[in-house]
Amino acid sequence: MRLKDVFIEVLKEYGIEFIGTNVVKVIKSKDPIKTMALLVANGKVNICYPKDGAVFDLNGNKSNSKAQAFVGKCDDIIIERERIVNRYRFPYVVIDCRFYDLHSEKEKKKLLLQIRQTLNVVREFMWDERLIVTLNCGCGVYYPSVEDFLAEKNFEKVILLDPEGEEEFKGEFADCYIIGGIVDKAGDKKGWTSKICKILREKGFNVKSQRILLRGDVIGVPDRLNHIAEIVLRVVLDGEDVENAIRSVQPYTVAKWRLRKVLHEYTVRVRVGDKTFRVLPKSVFKEFNWLNLRISDFYEVCSEMKYFVVSDEVMETIKRSKWDEKRRCYVLL
Ligand code: SAH
Repeated sequence: MRLKDVFIEVLKEYGIEFIGTNVVKVIKSKDPIKTMALLVANGKVNICYPKDGAVFDLNGNKSNSKAQAFVGKCDDIIIERERIVNRYRFPYVVIDCRFYDLHSEKEKKKLLLQIRQTLNVVREFMWDERLIVTLNCGCGVYYPSVEDFLAEKNFEKVILLDPEGEEEFKGEFADCYIIGGIVDKAGDKKGWTSKICKILREKGFNVKSQRILLRGDVIGVPDRLNHIAEIVLRVVLDGEDVENAIRSVQPYTVAKWRLRKVLHEYTVRVRVGDKTFRVLPKSVFKEFNWLNLRISDFYEVCSEMKYFVVSDEVMETIKRSKWDEKRRCYVLL
């Protein structure tokens, strides 16, 4: 359940099927109801008695019907914001930026960009207050440290997402998901997220440490902050399974890393004359529908790894040819 779904649910309870607005951002939005919900939750507008304006049904389609409510800068409120934001237990996404100063200038820029993109993700599912950032960058809500935030809230369950986490993330609900504000372009920040876990536990905070895996491996799981946030929210709020959530956000480059790691398992060795090749049938591509790959990505990786892609018929012929047990390859004459 996303904020938008909660918003619609509450409106329906009040018998509101059509809602008017004069807010340009809403009228121009691709998803007017989502934008209304976000602006209401962010405290920018109120839900009031009907007034003149554009009217939408709850699917976001423009309508000529008479509205039963209005969203805009008005004071004659029908539904308080709190009714919407407190109705459901939405989690917090917390970005722990304690290692910010240890990043290079380039990494800092990337980190700031990823934080902004994480805010966009949070806005797809919830609203700005649900993003906590321990860096004063104007995104979400600023806290000087995760410790300050956790001490204030006293949550029941907190999960730190860590590629080297102790347990696997399988969609467990938590009040708060901590993501490390770490961008590791230099490759010198391995294990830093686990350091955050150690520090928090030493200070007496009870945090679970969980890793997101794709079929048993972190390779193929995108590691950008916004992607991690989106995977978690898709799983926890939309009820999507982890594998689908990963594939939905996985950039092609990340899918290719995983393909490079496993593709050799699908090849056979073939000896022609005094040369040996690795060969695989084209249909292997279909086995990777759990990765976000285009056929061109598949061919690219095959060619980079010097694997020959053949038709299934050719593969059959190869498999009927002589098997050289010592060299572990088929021999083609
Ligand atoms: N090099 C760092 C990882 C930085 S990735 C390290 O080894 O700790 C940035 C953040 O994304 C991490 O702090 C973590 O919160 C999250 N993250 C990335 N990949 C993850 C995965 N597979 N599982 C869980 N969290 C992950």
